[in-house]
Amino acid sequence: MNIKEKDDLELIKELFEINKIKDYINYLEKIQEKWNSLGKKEKKVFLNNIHEVFYFYFMSLRVDYNLFNEKSYTVYKPKDSMKYFITKQFCGMQKIDEVNEYIDELKLLLSNFTDKHNTERVSKNDIDNLFNLVYQKYPKLEEIFSSVEIEILLFNNTDKISNSLTTPSLDNKHFTIYCLYMKDEPDRKRVEDIHYYVFLHELGHILSWLVTNKNQVPSSFIEDTKESYTGLTINNPDALEVFADSFAMLVMHESNYSYANPFEHFHENHYVVLKKYFDKLINEL
Ligand SMILES: [Zn+2]
Repeated sequence: MNIKEKDDLELIKELFEINKIKDYINYLEKIQEKWNSLGKKEKKVFLNNIHEVFYFYFMSLRVDYNLFNEKSYTVYKPKDSMKYFITKQFCGMQKIDEVNEYIDELKLLLSNFTDKHNTERVSKNDIDNLFNLVYQKYPKLEEIFSSVEIEILLFNNTDKISNSLTTPSLDNKHFTIYCLYMKDEPDRKRVEDIHYYVFLHELGHILSWLVTNKNQVPSSFIEDTKESYTGLTINNPDALEVFADSFAMLVMHESNYSYANPFEHFHENHYVVLKKYFDKLINEL
């Protein structure tokens, strides 16, 4: 290894020293600046070095978190989530021509974040309890959710746009749930505990993906709930949100979490329709 490469490695490893959003953005800018100063051959070497350092870090974290993990999901703590996320994104950058665009996207995403909170939005313990609640109602879902990889990244950051998000991999075998605070949202432990509902809503999105293998609700949902949700069509993007909401409210209904269900007051007939639908859907999986 020559001196230049040693400098590159030191620059790459600066990621592991930082914790604030502003510093992550500065870091990405530094990497981008370096990247833009390189010729094509040097870019290849630099990207290889990034991959080597980050892949090792990212795999070590995965092993740490999964070694004694018998759950059907993995929850990454806020202290590791951001670095896990960034290193994973960089490992996915394979084409030299796309690196700049990828880094721009990362910078844009982080520009919506602030370092507001000291606590994660939902805790690992909350997540365990919510999965238990789902598995008590639908034991089959433990089998289904265990057949794919579900990663949950807890962030103690605030995002301007959303408080949680789920993204699938291209093959629909890996799902990542990002749990964040939303701008102006009160700290956790507020009366409604809406973050429990939001987390179950994200599991509802994963369920619909697993049933249809794409970002679409099952057509049976439109058909079987048409008396409850008039005018909903399969191509309406709201249908995905209604499906996820329906799953979350049904799981919470008449449980220890019913107090946190914003739709607990809905008419019992609505819950009868939802229960009939989800019982059938899940049992046929
Ligand atoms: Zn949603």
